[in-house]
Amino acid sequence: MNRIYNFSAGPSTLPLEVLQEAQENLVDYQGAGLSIMEDSHRGKPYDAIHQEAIENIRELLALSDDYAVLFLTGGATGQFAMLPMNFLPEGKVADYTNSGAWASKAIKEAQRIGQVNVIANCGKDIPTRVPALADLAYSEDAAYVHITSNETISGAQWQEFPVTEAPLVADMSSDILSCPLDINQFGLIYAGAQKNLGPAGVTLVIIRKDWAERALDSIPAFYRYQTHIEGNSLYNTPPCFPIYILMLVTRWLKKQGGLQAIADINRRKAALLYGAIDASSFYKGTALPEYRSLMNVTFRLPNEELEQAFVKSAKEHDMAGLKGHRSVGGIRASIYNAMPEAGVEALVAFMKEFETQNG
Ligand SMILES: *Cc1c(COP(=O)(O)O)cnc(C)c1O
Repeated sequence: MNRIYNFSAGPSTLPLEVLQEAQENLVDYQGAGLSIMEDSHRGKPYDAIHQEAIENIRELLALSDDYAVLFLTGGATGQFAMLPMNFLPEGKVADYTNSGAWASKAIKEAQRIGQVNVIANCGKDIPTRVPALADLAYSEDAAYVHITSNETISGAQWQEFPVTEAPLVADMSSDILSCPLDINQFGLIYAGAQKNLGPAGVTLVIIRKDWAERALDSIPAFYRYQTHIEGNSLYNTPPCFPIYILMLVTRWLKKQGGLQAIADINRRKAALLYGAIDASSFYKGTALPEYRSLMNVTFRLPNEELEQAFVKSAKEHDMAGLKGHRSVGGIRASIYNAMPEAGVEALVAFMKEFETQNG
């Protein structure tokens, strides 16, 4: 077996022991004589997986009964639409912050449904950043306030969340479960699974139940959060296999010691990488230091030819997925929960070697 270090932004690396356990159970799930992909989503084996996945998330985030955990489909992109469909009626306005590419997509989709007030816009700033809390000027009686907790493409992350009167909503696709979180600040958070939770195909939504009850009733049942709360995410066939892997990933997270323990590791990994960038005049970080992402480390080399050579040479050293997003270029190292510290150490060693040869 020759596993490379995969720094891809998503789909991204998964814990090896999760993959191995899934492999052992792939053809014959725990002696049942069939795979979990082929089994009924109403049967006992799948039911145990479904419940454990929910329980693991509840435990990791210490969720109270005020919140429901949902497994939906459609990705975070689906949530860009579902959120305003539920909570942005005519005559109301929703506040959005624009911190970059993903926030901007959420805004565009919400604008198709209702009135949006962009209360802060630093989406195109270079160096990249997220809005400062002091710059947020909320609408009166906003339906909700939307933020993107980590901009996966630009590598900028909120370090502290705003305290809002209206329900606060966050797209947490690329930093969910990467550190402890006080969910009570939020009305709803959502995340596509393929960065920090598992494979693509399942979307995690955590929502305050009393808010879901007050959502618009005029939209199709399938798009109402309330429908999926009442159905315990089994209103229709859920993405059973991605949820199975998500269950194994959350079990693995608990074994690592939970969110505080993984946050400590994530901090160490990011410090090592940013430290290497700051110690060199060859590499230059893309984000303002005070908004640097602990998940997506973005940086530039002196020119694009060197960036291409860097990506190519890294690949020859068994490190993949380092090319920045096609819209911005540069280098991006995604170091989600499942990226081991040894992977970041290998990358830093490679960076030093590449600088010596090309600097
Ligand atoms: C990847 C990503 C998305 C898009 O997720 P899909 O599951 O592909 O819809 C949205 N927001 C953020 C912050 C992301 O990182």
